[in-house]
Amino acid sequence: MDLVIARPEGLYCPPGDFYIDPWRPVERSVITHAHGDHARTGNQHYLAAAAGAGILRARLGQDIDLQTLAYGEPLLHHGVKLSFHPAGHVLGSAQVRMEYGGEVWVASGDYKIEPDGTCAPFEPVRCDTFITESTFGLPIYRWQPQAQVFAEINQWWRANAAADKTSVLFCYSFGKAQRILHGIDASLGPILVHGAVEPLNRVYRESGIYLPPTIYAGEVKKSDPMMRKALVIAPPSAGGSTWMRRFGDYSDGFASGWMRLRGTRRRRGVDRGFVLSDHADWPGLLWAIEQTGAERVMVTHGSVGVLVRHLREQGLDAQSFSTEYGDDEEENAAVEPERAEVLP
Ligand SMILES: [Zn+2]
Ligand SMILES: [Zn+2]
Repeated sequence: MDLVIARPEGLYCPPGDFYIDPWRPVERSVITHAHGDHARTGNQHYLAAAAGAGILRARLGQDIDLQTLAYGEPLLHHGVKLSFHPAGHVLGSAQVRMEYGGEVWVASGDYKIEPDGTCAPFEPVRCDTFITESTFGLPIYRWQPQAQVFAEINQWWRANAAADKTSVLFCYSFGKAQRILHGIDASLGPILVHGAVEPLNRVYRESGIYLPPTIYAGEVKKSDPMMRKALVIAPPSAGGSTWMRRFGDYSDGFASGWMRLRGTRRRRGVDRGFVLSDHADWPGLLWAIEQTGAERVMVTHGSVGVLVRHLREQGLDAQSFSTEYGDDEEENAAVEPERAEVLP
């Protein structure tokens, strides 16, 4: 029996009568993580990993009807044994394990293999059927170790500061921003953040994740000499906006897995592209799929066709699942609401 099927509202578990990351409002939702395309408003009931509660409430409202489980803690619902397991994607991100009638299914949500210190590392879960994302499901996507990317960012920041130029780094404000803050060398200069980033920093800090001290960029005057030595973390939506006028001479960069593609940096019109993704690369996806031991793999958002074909060639029963999940590396970031000027 299929423990998860695709319905117009989202991925649905028939025996459990709940949806996983539904894109239309439903009664019972199980949420893998708080990125906007996976966690939407309007559901009557939310179930999520406890580590993600702060972010979910910050983004969907303090008053949502939210029930949480610690990673690994089982919940029996209509005979379906459900539990969350770390996905290593962003704070609180989880894979959903479902067991019913001797069958085990795991829905991955979004995941990343390399541990980054800002969330619980990805944990492979054995199952019969694995539902995997495929955002970067093409053989060209192979990430460098993140330490190397952080070294590049540090080097760029150091060179800019020596030339009295502000360094403005664009990235998605939830997850990527905190990962960068956690990974860079904070001794190089002051770190300023956009108003969309700071409330999320606060939730990470409250969860015990170390982030270096940050200053709300809106409070710093253009004439302040510290601006020249600063690194500024801002969402892509701030690029080209009036918000940028506070910086005199600056160099800008963009951190995203898409920077792997020639042309993306140019299209974005930024000086530097840093290839840093919160998703598994091609070898990572294949490794994760193999670790589950699953014979059946359902592929969601990304390069679905290519990954399905590759898995079939490996002898697996692979199929595509059409979903309405977006791309949290760039596209969603670009339309992220501008909460620019004031902190809530
Ligand atoms: Zn995501
Ligand atoms: Zn996603």
